[in-house]
Amino acid sequence: MAVSGLPPYDDANIFARILQGEIPAKKVYEDAWAFAFHDINPQAPVHVLVIPKGKYVSFADFTASASAEEIAGFMRAVGKVAKDLGLEASGYRLLLNMGEHSGQEVPHLHVHLFGGRPLGRMLSSGS
Ligand code: AMP
Repeated sequence: MAVSGLPPYDDANIFARILQGEIPAKKVYEDAWAFAFHDINPQAPVHVLVIPKGKYVSFADFTASASAEEIAGFMRAVGKVAKDLGLEASGYRLLLNMGEHSGQEVPHLHVHLFGGRPLGRMLSSGS
């Protein structure tokens, strides 16, 4: 369902293909709900993407359609990945792009996890 202003879920999107093992990824973590891997174009010393195993285009789609179990499992996985990467003491940032104004490029929900240095302001000045 196109609840987010994005097209319906596309089984050929790049993260779907990573989940299906068709495209390699530098895996960090996997459980029943989530898969985490290093971003191919890191913006910080640690830049990991955490994605749900379910077929959700966006945060809007996920929060409207996923079960409570899926949402809880996914959020716990994000926290576990950050902890396992040793980022809790120094801190980290989570970023989630949703739709056109955010610049979301890949139509499978993903949380960016950044850390490893002071991260500065929350938003760039943009253009
Ligand atoms: P967004 O703009 O929020 O949709 O972010 C998409 C992210 O996916 C970007 O940070 C890309 O660098 C990252 N990305 C795209 N393709 C791959 C890939 N094959 N493996 C890992 N990260 C990727």
